[in-house]
Amino acid sequence: MRGFRIWAIVRFRAKVSGIIMNHDRPLGPPDTATLIKNLRRPDRAVVTAGMPYATGPLHLGHLAGTHVPADIYARWLGMVIGRKNVLFVCGTDDHGSTSELSALKAGKPIQEFLAELHAAQDRTLKRYGIEMDVYSGTSREECFEPFHKPLAQDFLRKLYKKGLLLKKVSKHWYDPELKRYLQDRFVTGKCPNPKCENTQAYSDECETCGMQYSPEELQNPKSSLSQATPVLKDSVHWWLDMWSVSEPMREWVTKSEKFWRQAVFNAVIHSLKPTLLISKDQEENFKLLKAELPVHKSRYAAGKKIAVQFENKSDFNKAISLFSSKSIETKNDDAWAYRSISRDVLWGIPMPVDLDPEMQNKTLYVWPDSLIAPISFTKVALKNRGEDPNNSKLYWNNTKSDIYQFLGQDNVYFYTLMQGAMWLGTQENSQKYPDQGDYQFARNVFGNCHLMVNGEKMSKSRGNFYSGDQMLDEKKYHPDQIRYYLALLSLPEKSSNFDFKNFDERNKFLAGPMNAAFEKPISACHSKFGGVIPKGELDPKIKDETQKIIAKYLRNMDRGEYSTLLFLIENYARQINSQFTQYKPHDDRAPEDQRRNALYSCFYVLKNLLVMLYPFVPSTMESLRKSLNLPENVFRVEELNIPMPFDHKIGPKLDYFPAVESSNQV
Ligand SMILES: [Zn+2]
Repeated sequence: MRGFRIWAIVRFRAKVSGIIMNHDRPLGPPDTATLIKNLRRPDRAVVTAGMPYATGPLHLGHLAGTHVPADIYARWLGMVIGRKNVLFVCGTDDHGSTSELSALKAGKPIQEFLAELHAAQDRTLKRYGIEMDVYSGTSREECFEPFHKPLAQDFLRKLYKKGLLLKKVSKHWYDPELKRYLQDRFVTGKCPNPKCENTQAYSDECETCGMQYSPEELQNPKSSLSQATPVLKDSVHWWLDMWSVSEPMREWVTKSEKFWRQAVFNAVIHSLKPTLLISKDQEENFKLLKAELPVHKSRYAAGKKIAVQFENKSDFNKAISLFSSKSIETKNDDAWAYRSISRDVLWGIPMPVDLDPEMQNKTLYVWPDSLIAPISFTKVALKNRGEDPNNSKLYWNNTKSDIYQFLGQDNVYFYTLMQGAMWLGTQENSQKYPDQGDYQFARNVFGNCHLMVNGEKMSKSRGNFYSGDQMLDEKKYHPDQIRYYLALLSLPEKSSNFDFKNFDERNKFLAGPMNAAFEKPISACHSKFGGVIPKGELDPKIKDETQKIIAKYLRNMDRGEYSTLLFLIENYARQINSQFTQYKPHDDRAPEDQRRNALYSCFYVLKNLLVMLYPFVPSTMESLRKSLNLPENVFRVEELNIPMPFDHKIGPKLDYFPAVESSNQV
């Protein structure tokens, strides 16, 4: 964030000049107004959250990994640039074998099956206060024909024209009884990873260990449709060439290092820095050549190889010539850069057969389908608002608009490398960094790690699987309690545990000290000051603490880092309780001045809490807003640090965080 860099420079200069000039101005962080003024303010922003399959209810993992953090972020952006300039779009990932197979098992026509689950998911999101501008789905009537199919086919035509689609014959599983290809989840077998025991791995990926592989590597395959043993059969597919456009992508990811999550950055840059493989037998010759080679890093790699990684393609090409001049054989380590993007299934977006008749009866693979989908959803959202759907360009093809994507860490590959390559492939010149009018790279890609529940991976058989609705209906929690706790778990850094005991501890804090911080000033104001905020002076210590927490808040919200921040906000709330202990504004016997100053200071803290906590617990803050009798547009960063005015009449005390009942205990 710009503001913080400037802060660092100012501090440094001040230190140096302080010695020479002995100036008398106190040094410290810039004031809150400057920090707020320097916040990044794009004209518009679009927020996307990983798309669930419409094959089951939304569960805690969905909410924790994508929907809740994305909603917090969309609300935060709304506080900075105005919610009307932010589009938060999502929908179900309808195509592909997962949906087809689930509908088959349920014995229902696929669209009927998906519609029911979609409606249930939409309801759950609303119950959790996840305020999307649209929750559509790739196959839905409002999306597929008018927007999604033509848009996806347009992408394919452009990629084809740019030569980014390579035609390859590859082996695929085929059910000899049903006479059909068995894509992805229609085949199960033993995971090829020798360290993994999963016997229910799919054709191209294992959900247990996360490995991705080609179909022929799957062991002991079985057709999920007929239980027959499938055979491998050749099939022609289009493969996306990500290698040829890796340089502009490397530039994008390198530029993003300062503000992307470390795990996301590392996962992507590793692929984008070009790597050569040489035989370990050549180790001595390699060492002799090291001094002449461009900047590089080397390590041992599988298959008795040495991997030599370069900073860019120009260095990489120089190295190839150098190795070749010494008769050292090299191989490009580019397996990441080619993925097939068509499938032999009928449920999906038809491949354009006019480009290639061999694409008959094939559809677009669900991953590229779902990467384009948020643009289609944007068009649906705009149409629903009565705007021109083509205004989606103002969000996706505009250098003054920011794109933020929330997803599971496992999916980072697709949302960075595959999406980046697809975006570049639509440009007139796909080698250049996107300009105004081109599809823009995401400003940030927020990868989140897995949520564990009670210390284990969530699964129905372990009895620790909780749908979002179950948490509300059966366990009787309030959505804001869950939102708050999910934000506290530091999923950005590691897999985190939803531990019901800790969860209830947190809820006790919210129902106890946090509610007390809200209620005490409101009660004292009504009982002792006629419901009007008294004239007083801010406690300097509180003012100082406020500057610090706001600086931290602005920085962490921008980065989507909520865990430590919420603990600091909790501490900040304790200021109210300590003012009550010290100056007793509720007690007529305490000195009048002190009581007025304390209550005035408490309302100042309370208003800052109201604004800061709003993205996390919006419905609770809505109640608090009514109690403070502040206008609906108070949820803006500019309202931070601004005290409530003297003589402002407050509203009634309401219910805030619910009490923790013993029935909630596990
Ligand atoms: Zn596995």
